[in-house]
Formats: sequence, C-alpha cells, structure tokens
Amino acid sequence: MKRHAQWLEWRAPLGQARPPQREFHISSSVVIHGVSHSFGSGGLVLQDIELSLRAGSFVALLGPSGCGKSTLLRFISGLDTPSSGTITLSSASSAHGGSGPRLAFVFQDAQLLPWRSVLDNVALPLELAGVGRAEARERARAPLADVELSDASERYPDQLSGGMRMRVSIARALLTDPEILLLDEPFAALDELTRQRLDERLRALWLERCMTVIFVTHALAEAAFLADRALVMSRRPGRIVLDHELELPEERNLDLRTSAAFVEQTKVLYLALQAHGGLDDSQAVGST
Ligand code: ADP
Ligand code: MG
Repeated sequence: MKRHAQWLEWRAPLGQARPPQREFHISSSVVIHGVSHSFGSGGLVLQDIELSLRAGSFVALLGPSGCGKSTLLRFISGLDTPSSGTITLSSASSAHGGSGPRLAFVFQDAQLLPWRSVLDNVALPLELAGVGRAEARERARAPLADVELSDASERYPDQLSGGMRMRVSIARALLTDPEILLLDEPFAALDELTRQRLDERLRALWLERCMTVIFVTHALAEAAFLADRALVMSRRPGRIVLDHELELPEERNLDLRTSAAFVEQTKVLYLALQAHGGLDDSQAVGST
C-alpha cells in the first residue's frame, strides 16, 4: 500500500533516548543555503533559497500552487536532495551523537490505516520500532489527549470527521516528540470553522512543546494566525520574496482574527502574494 509506505518513511528515528515524559525542551534549527532545484531537464523549480530558521520557531510557508513548497519541505525532511545547495538541521540531541533531529511530517491526507482504531493508529510508529503493543498504546494516550481525542480512542477512521482524522494524524506525529514538525497544507480540505479550531489547537501545542514547526499553507489568515514568521514564495521558480516577522501577541485565540492588527498582518502577506503572481480567484484578504 503506497500511502502507508510513504508515511512510514517519514517516521522519526526512534532508537534515541526520549526526553523525560511530558517535558519538551529540545528543538532544532534549520539552515538552508543556496538551494536550487530542477527535476531532470524540466527547468528550475526552486531558485537560490537562503534561509535560517531559529530553533523553536513557527514558520509559515506561503506561495502559489506549483512554486515548490512541497519540494522544499521534502528536502528539509531529508527524503529528497536538491540539485544544489545544502540543508543543515541541528539540535542539542544531534550534537550529542544522535542520528539527527527527530522529525515528523503531516500531510493534507491524514493517512490513517482504516483497520486500526484511533489509539492503534497513533501507536503504530512505536510498534513498528519494536515497542510492544501494550506499551505503544499506553504511550499513545498522551498525544491523543493533546489533540483532545481521548474519548475517541477506540473508534475507527471511518467513524471520524475530517477534522478528527487530522487530529489523529497530528497525534501520531507528536508521539515521537519531534524536534521539527513539517506540515504540508494539513487543514486545506477542512471546513473553515474546523480549520480555525485546529489552527488554535496547533498553536497551543507548539507553545507547550518548543518544537520547530514549518507549516505550508495557501491561506493568508491561517499563516498569520499560526506563525511567528511568514515566508512568501514567488511563482515557479520559487524564490523567497517576503520574509516577515508577524507582529501579533504570543497567545492567540479566535477573537484575534477580527482585530485590526491581524487584518493588517494578513494584508502584508496578501500584497506580497499579489505582487508575485500568487493569487487566484479564490483568495482575498481574510480568506483561508
Ligand atoms: P507546491 O507544493 O508549491 O504546489 P511542488 O513542490 O509540489 O509545488 O511542485 C513544484 C513544481 O515541481 C511543480 O511544477 C511540479 O509540477 C513539479 N514537480 C514536483 N515534483 C516533481 C517530480 N517528482 N518530477 C517532476 N516535476 C515535479
Ligand atoms: Mg504542495
């Protein structure tokens, strides 16, 4: 089953010592130097990407469809390698002889196994790493509680809403206490209210956990709500055309979305996308 195999490739290295239970104090910096890429003779997809992402930051990556966002995320994950340039991930754990920062990936499709319960889906990465089923299930309970799904632990994926399935997918990613969490348009298929609630939950989880998050989205308001720093890419070949620190409070709730400061920040992103061909008919200020 291809999808299954795909996300298994992404699971974090599990042989390393875990941080103490429920304490999260390690994150990883990401340095991208001179990254350009073309697939075969297909022309440039990414051009001269130069970025330094602080450990523990929440970065939103915005840009028009086809500008290379997913490609860049795959390079950061180490699954693919760019034609030129380097990507360096470093953290306290890797500096002490580990095999690189723990990394997890969340896709737009939750990619759950339909024959496993919610708890068993979350526990799967540990089981695959050789942890016994009972212990894996026990350790899966904390991340499931973090996404407020403890009550649904024995349900099956086809008994869940789209938003719940995505929360299971996030819990599975959090199970390994990632130092870097990569999310590729995870909420794009969800309705607006569900999406806003998940944005709020994800922001809170990040504040608790001190991990580095890179979140790809098409949605301006979602980027402004979630991130501390927003990067806007141009149309293909993707270049960074705006690197903006969001001037918003650390604690964010739904009320923030209607504030003047929020609308102003969203507009900064909108103008950059507009100037670089990133808007289509479905996008406007305040849309997600
Ligand atoms: P985004 O996520 O920003 O929508 P992608 O990173 O998926 O964009 O793709 C960037 C460009 O690279 C697109 O034009 C896409 O068609 C092309 N592309 C992506 N993956 C491959 C591949 N494996 N082979 C050839 N072209 C690809
Ligand atoms: Mg993409």
